[in-house]
Amino acid sequence: MDEPEVSYIINELAENREDYFRAIAPPIIQTSNFAFETVDDLRNSLQDEYSTWLYSRGLNPTVEILRKKLAALDGAEDCLVFNSGAAAIFAGVFANVKSGDHIISVDEPYTWAQKMFNDILPRFNISTTYIDGTDTENFKKATKDNTTLYYLESPNSWTFDLQNLKTVAELAKEKNIVTICDNSYCTPLNQKPVEYGIDLVLQSASKFIGGHSDTIAGVLSGSSKMIGRIFNSEYMNIGSGIQPFNAWLLIRGLRTLPARLDRITNTTNKIVTYLKQQPRVEKVIFPFDETFPQYHLAKQQMKGACGLLSFVVITKHVETIETFCNSLVHVLIGVSWGGHESLIMPKCAGMLREDFNAAVTTHRMIRMYAGLEDADYIIEDIESAFKAISSME
Ligand SMILES: *Cc1c(COP(=O)(O)O)cnc(C)c1O
Repeated sequence: MDEPEVSYIINELAENREDYFRAIAPPIIQTSNFAFETVDDLRNSLQDEYSTWLYSRGLNPTVEILRKKLAALDGAEDCLVFNSGAAAIFAGVFANVKSGDHIISVDEPYTWAQKMFNDILPRFNISTTYIDGTDTENFKKATKDNTTLYYLESPNSWTFDLQNLKTVAELAKEKNIVTICDNSYCTPLNQKPVEYGIDLVLQSASKFIGGHSDTIAGVLSGSSKMIGRIFNSEYMNIGSGIQPFNAWLLIRGLRTLPARLDRITNTTNKIVTYLKQQPRVEKVIFPFDETFPQYHLAKQQMKGACGLLSFVVITKHVETIETFCNSLVHVLIGVSWGGHESLIMPKCAGMLREDFNAAVTTHRMIRMYAGLEDADYIIEDIESAFKAISSME
């Protein structure tokens, strides 16, 4: 239904060709600063850096094209694009807390969000309580008088736990608490948290938006008021705005985002179906699979799910999981996701071998990302890896 709108945003919005020789591809305005005709023009710009070309740590014309597209995709008034998703998290959180405040975060958010909550914010007398975010009641129960921020990640990128974005946003509004949601897994094409009342939405553009595993970037979207405030403070001070060339790569990545997500959705569904009938697989975890505990909520608030899935291997030994992963030829071992290449990452890579305990289900979990290769090509690779462990207990 909103397909034409997405096509418009991705291909046309903010592309004013008369400004640059009617070129189809927008230019990379690789400049650090801008010149003024008069001192008074410069004076005016210094008064309002948020709406003038002054210096590229602030605004830059190539980045501007990208910002307009990404904000529109999120259904937000404005956005800022950072040099990483981690910088977007840092700015979004930091802008909304002060000494003495309390944050409620979902259990095990993205690693560097966790490190910020655990290691950096306590130095400024800001504490964080982690809760099981699958039940909105848990936010309510953990809320204190000094709670100022709810940190969400729906779904997360390992177990895909969801929060009910609408009910959490409603609760937060009642209590004057700011909500921020990591939307990296869905992208704005599959979920728009702003529509449910979430204040700030962030995503790592290093994943699906870039889409080619060649750029690190992050996006933070929200109201003009909130984004303007962050621009004039954290964004300018952290100084981690995206550079023009990387912004240009993201504009290019956006062109194929819907097509890539379509193909990856197809491939992911085939892989899920394949894994579910594999005797060495105890369970497959994927939000759009009927066996997923929050399947109905996923269907209700997400338009799609693709790319990442997890599965639990039946084994007593860490060696089985390592052999399985090492046996893959086309699926690469590595962190991240969202690019052209299929990837695998076992949970046991994040622990010492001697700490592996087969009785703990998550230790036997493997995360897989389906890239742009042909589905059968990937499935054959997985099949041969299962053969390699067929005689291992
Ligand atoms: C990768 C990722 C981030 C961090 O993004 P970077 O671009 O790597 O800094 C944040 N959240 C999620 C869910 C991610 O997967």
